[in-house]
Amino acid sequence: MQVKTHHETEAIVLRTYDYGDYDRVVRLFTRHFGKIAGMAKGARNSRRRFPGTLEPWCLSRVSFIQTTPEKLVFLERCEPIDYFSELRRDPVKTMYAARIGEMVDTFSPERKKNEELFDTFSCFLSMLNEKGAEEASLIGFEMRVLACVGYAPALDRCLSCQKGVEEGKSFFFVAEVGGIKCDQCISPRDSSPIRVNRGTIKALLFTITCPIDKIGRMRLTFRSLKEGRLLVDTFIRHLLGRNLRTARVLEQMEPR
Ligand SMILES: [Zn+2]
Repeated sequence: MQVKTHHETEAIVLRTYDYGDYDRVVRLFTRHFGKIAGMAKGARNSRRRFPGTLEPWCLSRVSFIQTTPEKLVFLERCEPIDYFSELRRDPVKTMYAARIGEMVDTFSPERKKNEELFDTFSCFLSMLNEKGAEEASLIGFEMRVLACVGYAPALDRCLSCQKGVEEGKSFFFVAEVGGIKCDQCISPRDSSPIRVNRGTIKALLFTITCPIDKIGRMRLTFRSLKEGRLLVDTFIRHLLGRNLRTARVLEQMEPR
C-alpha cells in the first residue's frame, strides 16, 4: 500500500510550467524540504487553492502530499505570504530576482533542507521588492548564496603564505584554488588571476559573515563593483563549468 504523507512549509516559487490543459508543474524552494517539484492539479482554473501564488518568487505557505520520495509531490494549496509584486514591475528587479533564483535552483541539490539559504533568498526578494535594485547588494547576495551552499571563496588570507588581508594592499583571486594569493605569491602558473584590492575583499568578506539583513547596506566603489562582479562570475563559471543563463543579460546592464 502507498503511504501518503501530508506536509506544510513555506516555499518560494522558482519556476512554473503548464502541464496539459489544466495543471501546472512547479519547482519550489522550501524551508523544510529544500528544492522540490510539485504537481498543481487544476491550478490553471483554481484561484481558490492557488490565488496567484504559482508565479516565480511568490512566497507562500504550501500544503502538499508526498507518496513516493523521489516523485513529484501533489500540491494541495498555496496560501500567499508575500507576492513581491514590485519585482515584476521593474525589469532590473525582475532580472536580479531571476539571477538569485537561478543560483538557488542551480546550487541546491533536490530535497536538501537549507534554512539559511531559504532565509537568504526570501530576505533578498523582500529587500528588492521594497528598495531599489543595486548591483552592490546583488553581488553581496550572490556571495552569500555561494557561502550557504558551501562554496564561499577563501578571501581572508593569501592561500600560499597566509598573509592576512590587512597586511597587503592588493591580492589576486584565483578561481582554481578558490581563494586569493598576495602579489608575492601569485605565479605565472596561476591561470587567469583577477586583481582585487583590499577594499573589495573586505566588502565581500563582510557579505559572507554579516547578519543577512545587513547585506543590502553594502556600498562599493565603481572599481570594487567591477572587481566583485568579475570575481563572482569567474568563480561561478569555474564551479559549474559554464555561465549561468542570467549572466549574459546581466552583462548588458549598466551598474546601478
Ligand atoms: Zn602570499
